Amino acid sequence: MATLQGTPILILKEGTQRTVGRDAQRMNIMAVRVIAEAVRSTLGPRGMDKMLVDSLGDVVITNDGVTILKEMDVEHPAAKMVIEVAKTQENEVGDGTTTAVVIAGELLKKAEELLDADIHPTVIAKGYRLAAEKAMEILDSIAIEVNRDDDELLKKIAATAMTGKGAEVAINKLADIAVRAVKIVAEEVNGKIEVDTDNVKIEKRTGASVEDSELIEGIVIDKEVVHPGMPKRVKNAKILVLNAALEVKETETDAKIRITDPDMLQRFIEQEEKMIKEMVDKIVEAGANVVFCQKGIDDLAQYYLAKAGVLAVRRVKKSDIEKIAKACGARILTDLRDLKPEDLGEAELVEEKKVGDEKMVFITGCKNPKAVTILIRGGTEHVVEEIARGVEDAVKVVAAALEDGKVVAGGGAPEIEVSLRIKEWAPSLGGREQLAAEAFAAALEIIPKSLAENAGLDPIDILVELKSKHEQGNVYAGIDVYNGKVVDMRELGVLEPLRVKKQAIKSATEVATMILRIDDVIAAKALEK
Ligand code: ADP
Repeated sequence: MATLQGTPILILKEGTQRTVGRDAQRMNIMAVRVIAEAVRSTLGPRGMDKMLVDSLGDVVITNDGVTILKEMDVEHPAAKMVIEVAKTQENEVGDGTTTAVVIAGELLKKAEELLDADIHPTVIAKGYRLAAEKAMEILDSIAIEVNRDDDELLKKIAATAMTGKGAEVAINKLADIAVRAVKIVAEEVNGKIEVDTDNVKIEKRTGASVEDSELIEGIVIDKEVVHPGMPKRVKNAKILVLNAALEVKETETDAKIRITDPDMLQRFIEQEEKMIKEMVDKIVEAGANVVFCQKGIDDLAQYYLAKAGVLAVRRVKKSDIEKIAKACGARILTDLRDLKPEDLGEAELVEEKKVGDEKMVFITGCKNPKAVTILIRGGTEHVVEEIARGVEDAVKVVAAALEDGKVVAGGGAPEIEVSLRIKEWAPSLGGREQLAAEAFAAALEIIPKSLAENAGLDPIDILVELKSKHEQGNVYAGIDVYNGKVVDMRELGVLEPLRVKKQAIKSATEVATMILRIDDVIAAKALEK
């Protein structure tokens, strides 16, 4: 029998890197902690901003956790998992991304200490999971009911989501806009309120102050009327929504047409003109006086449309086409030959207006009134972008608060309450899981601690005061970051949807336990760039 001794057996492809056991764990934990540390200084209204510069030199200035993480070019697989968590948090509940990432980082930091004390990762993961379940119960028990008609309260929720995102200058106005927008699109389905935040469109334009931002009951698109001869204002609009080009299609195969005399050329051109004229006639006959086209509109088609008094806009974004169709009750047509009058949508007014330096098209009085646009204004591109991110979060949290009817206080109050109660409950677990649950409780303190630090306050003093107030039964005691005091957050009006807090703790726990369970990293050789 031949001996295998001395012949290495390659199971993995050459160049594959493998890290196992504690090394793998340490490496992953370190990667997550670095990410968490990077966003921690942005937490809360007094958090700092980050300036991100991409490989093309474009600059984004933001305080928004998920934006920072999306823009960072992260290589490490564990770090990428955390970024996914932030994205999920953003998509599911619209806010609390920084909170989720910071908690995940701290959970792993505490886990490392337990690992050093020889506690098995699966025990830690189990303890964390149980503690997270308990945290959900505790959060439910301290949640505050929202009266859905209490607009002032809803505005406070909106303002809490926007603070720290440069919106302070016009926070009342923006909060009011966000609440009104959500209330318009909210629907009652089987006695429950549902809000499709996709119906709230956000458009941005520089050249005015943030105060000039406005809510439009209808749809605004960042385009202009395609031909100067067309009307700029059409009342009782009958709207054709088209996702094909208004031009004579080029043949798909390479065809040559041999033209032998001038008459033939003339006939050829006339034929093309005729086809275009027929298209426009068809549109006019169907009764349309407005056309939104996702693709191009031929010069000649523009001319005929203008002659017929039709307002047309070309190269409208696909997402806008869908929104217009939904709001106006139009069918999106791919082929003009199918056009029937009932395919057209309706709106009271379609109008081109100058906003800032450029024009925009406003579609108001739509058949389906549950479509609104928030037009964000601001001095510069960076301001407008950051405000828009804040308003987007505000819309989502107001929607969440309306749907669930429940909020919690902010400013670190829920984290401290949950932390204290989990500490009390942990001994009932017994076994080593108790240690993990205690570590979980301690990890939650990172939120009030960071809020205090970012506001330039002493975190130790603040934490001591917070704990003592909570132990005396002040469930809503949190940090007033502007005055450096511990106060009742409900009275201060710092409120967040219950859903945001629950999801932040849930996703942080999920990612932390997932990373803890990994003890083997097998990485293929990176492709040469
Ligand atoms: P996230 O991406 O997690 O939402 P933010 O930077 O928006 O991160 O900060 C949210 C934290 O700031 C929450 O814990 C919230 O309660 C707190 N917060 C917001 N506004 C205030 C305020 N006016 N006073 C104290 N804390 C606040």
